[in-house]
Amino acid sequence: MGQRVGIIGGGQLARMMIAPAVELGIDVRVLAEVPDMAASLAATAIGDYRDVDTVLAFARDVDVVTFDHEHVPQEVLRALVGAGAAVHPGPDALRFAQDKLQMRAQLDALGLPQPEWAPISSAADLQAFLDAHGGRAVVKTPRGGYDGKGVRVVTAAGDVDDWLGERAAADPLLAEELVDFTRELAQQVARRPSGEMAVYPVVETVQRDGVCAEVIAPAPHATGRLAPVAAGIGRAIAEGLAVTGMLAVELFETADERLLVNELAMRPHNSGHWGQDGAMTGQFEQHLRAVLDLPLGDPAPRAPWAAMINILGGPVSASLGDRLSDALAAHPTVKVHTYGKAPRPGRKVGHVNAWGDDLDAVVYEARAAAAFFGG
Ligand code: ADP
Repeated sequence: MGQRVGIIGGGQLARMMIAPAVELGIDVRVLAEVPDMAASLAATAIGDYRDVDTVLAFARDVDVVTFDHEHVPQEVLRALVGAGAAVHPGPDALRFAQDKLQMRAQLDALGLPQPEWAPISSAADLQAFLDAHGGRAVVKTPRGGYDGKGVRVVTAAGDVDDWLGERAAADPLLAEELVDFTRELAQQVARRPSGEMAVYPVVETVQRDGVCAEVIAPAPHATGRLAPVAAGIGRAIAEGLAVTGMLAVELFETADERLLVNELAMRPHNSGHWGQDGAMTGQFEQHLRAVLDLPLGDPAPRAPWAAMINILGGPVSASLGDRLSDALAAHPTVKVHTYGKAPRPGRKVGHVNAWGDDLDAVVYEARAAAAFFGG
């Protein structure tokens, strides 16, 4: 029997680890929150990831525990480690992906480039930050945000009174300078417990309404200076935070060609879906290898360009299956990945990957195929 990897969380990231696990003979088991999730195919348990006993019972039958999301509370993670479970990434790394204030402080300590920031406990704090930053700022809830929820552009001290009202003074918000970025990039690095790393090419990510819409790999115009700088930031964070598994570093590129760290994810990430088909080793296989401390695979691209287009649920909810046949017939060279989720509006329900020699043709092909699924 192969080594057993337990994934906490039953979303599409867990789902997409199943296929490479089957190929490598790795036994993947999933603790899903509810029945009928994206990764239910491999679910061996259903329960609450915030409940220590549920998680400890799940971990008992696996060799290593890893994650589909970053929401497992620190006390549960520490109970797992205390019980002797191998947890990758471990609690000391994961806390920097769980709490944006802790991340900002740690990146400063490592001397890495990031937006100016401050903790905010009152309207007066925010006013002082606005005064120092041209009257505009971004305020974030440090924990629990995703897809732009918990992120607000503000221009007045009272703009986050609702958030401040819900919180204790000892639990501040994060204020950041409003970065006038020219585009958003993402840098992925895989790291094993033994320290070996594999560095992916930096990619461009395009967000719509706070949700990732498209990824181009590698990021156009990033050869030369930018790509090695991004790779260096990725390596420094993976090593400096002792990350194990896949790390994604979301970056802002500014008009004067600086890179600033926006946020971190310590798991497979939407910015790496292109690599399932476009890289020698995709992030889902790489994450499994890394958390099991197996030799890492080659992260190099298979083709000069790859594009990933997300499929979002649209106003008219039809199942992806109804449109699959037409999409496959029209676009035999792309790969369609579906998550088995109900296509509620705005929800990520699948993606399309295309790759090849000509960037425009690759992007066109991927967009045209994704368009079959509405959204
Ligand atoms: P989430 O955790 O919800 O993904 P992020 O911190 O990544 O939140 O922010 C979501 C989006 O908001 C970013 O992708 C970016 O477009 C915008 N954003 C976040 N921080 C800043 C900032 N300091 N300046 C300008 N835009 C920002």
